[in-house]
Amino acid sequence: MKLDTRAIRYLTGDDWRVLTAVEQGSKNHEVVPTPLIQQIAGLRGGSAVHKCISSLAKVGLIAKVKNARYDGYRLTYGGLDYLALNAHRKSNVVFSLGNQIGVGKESDIYITASPDGRQQVLKLHRLGRISFRTVKANRDYLRKRSTGSWMYLSRLAAQKEHAFMRVLYREGFSVPEPLAWSRHTVVMEFIDSFPLRMIDSIPDPGKLYAELMDMIVQLAHRGLIHGDFNEFNILIKEETAGDKVTLKPVLIDFPQTVSTNHANAQYYFDRDVACIKRYFERRFKYVSDEPGPLFADALKGADLERRLDVEVEASGFSKKMGKDLERFIEATGGDQTEANAQSNEGQVAGGEAEEEEDDDDDDAAGEDEEELGQELQEGDSLVDELHDLS
Ligand code: ADP
Ligand code: MG
Repeated sequence: MKLDTRAIRYLTGDDWRVLTAVEQGSKNHEVVPTPLIQQIAGLRGGSAVHKCISSLAKVGLIAKVKNARYDGYRLTYGGLDYLALNAHRKSNVVFSLGNQIGVGKESDIYITASPDGRQQVLKLHRLGRISFRTVKANRDYLRKRSTGSWMYLSRLAAQKEHAFMRVLYREGFSVPEPLAWSRHTVVMEFIDSFPLRMIDSIPDPGKLYAELMDMIVQLAHRGLIHGDFNEFNILIKEETAGDKVTLKPVLIDFPQTVSTNHANAQYYFDRDVACIKRYFERRFKYVSDEPGPLFADALKGADLERRLDVEVEASGFSKKMGKDLERFIEATGGDQTEANAQSNEGQVAGGEAEEEEDDDDDDAAGEDEEELGQELQEGDSLVDELHDLS
C-alpha cells in the first residue's frame, strides 16, 4: 500500500482531532459509532464533526462501515500512516518524506529527512497485508482472536523492533540507530549500503562469514536470536579508512527476534546459522572448515546478568505482547520466507485487509498519546518537501 501524503497539508486542526478520535475509539470498537467520535473529539456542534468526518472519509483516512446494529467509521491504514507521520513531525524526528526504497512482505520502507537534513529510514509495518487476504486458515485463526487486528499487530511489530534495536544499538551491536517509533512505524538511521543479497562477490568471504557467525553468537550471549538472519536482512556497508575499504555488515529487521529461553530457541538458532552457511556456499562458493557455531556452546558464554531479552520485556514489551505477535508470525509462516515473499509480491493488492477486527485491549504502552488539536502549519512542514520529493 502506497503512502499517499497528498492530503496531509489540507487537514485542519479539527480534522486531526476527529482522526485521533476515531483511532482512540477503535481501541474498544471495531466500528466506532459516530456519536462516540463526536464525544471523543470534543468538538462543539455536530455539523463541525460531520464536516471533518466527510473530508477524512473522502481522502480515505477513515472508512464508513455499515453495521447490523449501528453505522460508524473505522481507521484505515492511510489514517494510521497520517497519525504516525504527524507524531514524528511534531516531535521533530521527521521533516520530509522521500522515496520508497523497499516493499517487504509486511512492511513499506521510505527515506525521510530529519529537520537538520540527515537521511533516515521510515519503516511502516503492515502485518496482515498479505496474510489476512490470501490464507483462509489465517483468517479463521484471526477471526477467533480478539487481538488479531492488523492495527494491533502492526503496532506490536514496530514497538518490538524499536525496543530491540534500542538495546542492541546501545550495546554496540551493528544495527541502525533507532530514532523513534509511533504506532506501526519506526524511524531509524539510514544505512548507505546494499543488502548482502545484491552483492555478487566479495574479496574475503571467510572474513565476512566469521563476522556474521560471531554476530549470531554474540546475540545469543545476550539472550537473543534474530530469527530471520538472512541475506535480505544483512546490509553491507563500505567503510573507508585511508586507502583501505572494509565491508561492514549491519543487521536489520527484528520483529521475529526471540529469546534464547524460547521453547524452540535451538531450532531458530540453528536455522539462522544454516541460512548463512547455505548462502555463502551458494553465492560465494565458500565453505568454512569449522563446524557450528553450536547453540549449546553459545549458551556457555552467555552473560546472564545482562540479558537483553529480559531487559526488553521489563521495558514494556510484555510477554503477552510477544506471544500475540509470535502467534501471528507463526500462523502466517513468518519463517525465513522473504524469498517467497518476493515472488508473492504480485499478489500484494493495494488497500486494506478484508478482515479487519479490532480488539479491546490494544493499548500499546509507552506510545506517544495525545495528539489532539495539532495541525500542520503552512511552511512547517513535511508537506512542501513531500511534494518536491514525490
Ligand atoms: P521487511 O520486514 O519488510 O523485510 P526490512 O526491515 O528487512 O523489512 O527492510 C526491507 C528492506 O529495506 C531491506 O532489505 C533494505 O534494503 C531496506 N532497509 C531497511 N532498513 C534500512 C536502513 N536502516 N537503511 C537502509 N536500508 C534499509
Ligand atoms: Mg527483511
